[in-house]
Amino acid sequence: MKPRAVVVGSGLGGLLTASFLAKSGYDVTVLEKAPYIGGRFANLSYKGFGLSTGAFHMLPHGEDGPLAYLLKLLNANVQIVNSKPKGMIFYKGRIFHYREGWRYLSFKEKAKATKLLLDIRRNKLPKEEEAGMSGREWIREKIGDNEFVDAFIKSFLGWADSVLDVPAGELAREIKAALRWGGPGLIKGGCKAITHELARIVERNSGRVTTGKRVVEVDVDSKKVITADGDKLSYDVLISNIGIKETVELIGRENFDRDYLKRVDSLRPSEGIKYNLALRGKPRIGNTVVFTLDTERINGYNEPSSLSPELAKDGYTLIMLHHALQSRNIKTERRKGIEDIYEIFPDLDEEGEILLIQTYLDGNPVNRVASGQVVEDFPISDVYVVGDAYKLPGGIEVEGIALGVMRTLEKLDLGSFSEWYL
Ligand code: AMP
Repeated sequence: MKPRAVVVGSGLGGLLTASFLAKSGYDVTVLEKAPYIGGRFANLSYKGFGLSTGAFHMLPHGEDGPLAYLLKLLNANVQIVNSKPKGMIFYKGRIFHYREGWRYLSFKEKAKATKLLLDIRRNKLPKEEEAGMSGREWIREKIGDNEFVDAFIKSFLGWADSVLDVPAGELAREIKAALRWGGPGLIKGGCKAITHELARIVERNSGRVTTGKRVVEVDVDSKKVITADGDKLSYDVLISNIGIKETVELIGRENFDRDYLKRVDSLRPSEGIKYNLALRGKPRIGNTVVFTLDTERINGYNEPSSLSPELAKDGYTLIMLHHALQSRNIKTERRKGIEDIYEIFPDLDEEGEILLIQTYLDGNPVNRVASGQVVEDFPISDVYVVGDAYKLPGGIEVEGIALGVMRTLEKLDLGSFSEWYL
């Protein structure tokens, strides 16, 4: 008999792991409570546009990163196209190629920055106390107190991680990742092109992906998963894609020791706001990311319809902007975000409109565990947490999820990925 794997949640991490398990001979059942699959990596049809439930229809390291690698191993039929240029910068009212940013560094600062990048490339990363200090403070110590550099790092972190600072150890690894795997890339057709293809891979390998099935309990003694409508499924391996705290609740807090619960309760999410813009006419920036340094809230934006015109209504282009929350006053955050949008697109009222504003906090955050926090292995045998609550160091968003899935596959003896870890 095939070993049975039950996967709770059909987000990217769940479906990726499910695909590998199904291809490796497991009998896989994915249980999804929502009426659609993909979690925060799905398309969202809205007024003729293909918005997304979460991600920016983009992979942080495009065709050459860990997620693209896993998709290749699975022979997934998806197209990812690297951004060119890798990034652009909006600073002092002007948009330019990221490389031009070097001109805002003095001769001395340039030399120090070049050395730092070389050190990072050679794996000379901050250790111990230095690794735990503020990443932005660390850069100031290494390069100098340069306003442009700090604004760039802030904008990069706000766009990539939806936080405005991370520990130095994390920042160094994210830079290492960018040096190694390059910049981002858009997904042809958007997020759903990946999650739907993964669901097809599960099904082609005799697995099932069921929507409208909410898991309400996991009995770790009898190794059974129980759904809201009373189904009981036995598992040999349980993959949870719904977060660590949520998994602990399903299993019951009494099954965990106090220290572990304290660690879990101290994990903090990252939160943010995404603005979808419809602009009339041709693509504005193409397949790239603009890091916005001038703005008070907005950290960056991209244009998914430049690669996939079908994501915008005829005659329009789709822009997605994002900012990391700076306070819990959502009304103020939105107001300031919108003010920024008018700074970037002063003719917005004549050219188009803000289609939809999506807020990611509380039960639906940007990341269940913000980048830079250490998460140890899940302490219950045969239960594995994947997804945005299990991102490995240096892995930005879905790339971090892919690294976490690699580690999980290794624990299940389904591959070896050590060369990918940062
Ligand atoms: P993501 O939000 O992308 O990390 O994906 C997580 C997925 O898990 C989402 O699609 C959720 O709808 C789904 N989910 C969350 N809780 C449960 C649950 N108790 N049972 C089944 N699916 C769940």
